[in-house]
Formats: sequence, C-alpha cells, structure tokens
Amino acid sequence: MNFINMFLRWWRSQPPTFPEEKLCTGLGEPGTPGTFPVEIWEGHDPVITDSFERPGPGAKRNGRGHWGGDIALRRPKSGKVDRPEYVKHFFCPNNKVRSLNVFPGIVKSVENSKKHGRVVKVAHGTRHISVHRHLSRTDVVAGQVVAEGIALGILGHAPSAGDKGFNHDHFEIWDMTLPGPKNSRAAHAVDPGPWLEHWTKRTKD
Ligand SMILES: [Zn+2]
Repeated sequence: MNFINMFLRWWRSQPPTFPEEKLCTGLGEPGTPGTFPVEIWEGHDPVITDSFERPGPGAKRNGRGHWGGDIALRRPKSGKVDRPEYVKHFFCPNNKVRSLNVFPGIVKSVENSKKHGRVVKVAHGTRHISVHRHLSRTDVVAGQVVAEGIALGILGHAPSAGDKGFNHDHFEIWDMTLPGPKNSRAAHAVDPGPWLEHWTKRTKD
C-alpha cells in the first residue's frame, strides 16, 4: 500500500510532458506562425510602441537598453482617452485588454513583482521562454499546459512607472540555448520583433 502511495506521489510530482514533440524546437525561426501577445481590443490594433535594444553606447535609454518589445493599442483618431492610459499615439484601458499566449507551451512561473506587476513566463519546448510583464491579473498557474491564443491575464499599470506610466505588455523572448545563468535576461533575451512581424493578431472569441 505504501509503495502505491509513494509511486502516486512521485508520479503526480512529475512535470507535465509537452503535448507535441515539435515543441522542443521552441518558437521555431522567425516566420513560424504564432499569436500576437496582445489581443485586438474593440477594433483597436495592438502595436509595438517601443522595441528591443541592447544596452550600450548610443542606446536610447541612457545606454540601459530594453530587453523586450512594448505593446499597446493604437490610439483612436478622435475621442478622449484619459491618462494614465495613453501616451501620444497609444493607449490601453485599465484591466480590460488581455495578454495572449503566443505559442503552445507550459507556464513556467507566475510572479508578482514590485517593479513589473504580475509577470507570466511560458516555456515553449526547451529552447524558448516568452515573458509578459505589467499584467494586473493572471488567469493561469505554473505548470499549466497552455494552448496558443489563450488568455494569460489582463494588462494593468506598470508599478515602476507610477502615474507617468501607461499600460502595456512588455514582451520578451528568451533563447535558452544562449550561454549564461538560467535566470539572466541579459544573457537570453533576443529581439522579439522578427517573430512579432509574422504573428496573427486575434480578437476576443
Ligand atoms: Zn518594456
């Protein structure tokens, strides 16, 4: 009896296996179909508001760089949207717009950080991890197998930006075949732009 219980405990503690073998290649090369990380909200297109940049001389943000792409909605040509929900040409209403899973995978972690708000990391096979920051609510748990296109949560304020901030999904892709400490985004983050170009923008189903 004890052995059966021990076996069951061990079996349940094993990480879920990937549903398809192809996932081991991660997101594939740029051009492989996937889902854009932010949904089309009430007809407003999600767009990249700030792109990836390695830190160093000449980098825009005092040389600090930017390890992902920021995504918000294109602002309507007319009509009012209140701060802090917009900057110039973009906006993203509080707690309404969903972050979507870009490719089949397994939720690696769900964190709540003082600096980035809620953060969801999804492992796509053994090669890639996608990261969404600045969520105000999350709808998934670590270890969950997630299909492409499902909602990971909704976008809210970025706590580090305070009142000057505006809502957006700070989206990163990590390539885990690059050398460096496992948790280091400086070692693993790559420009998500070439993938984003080809991914499908989806509306609420
Ligand atoms: Zn960002």
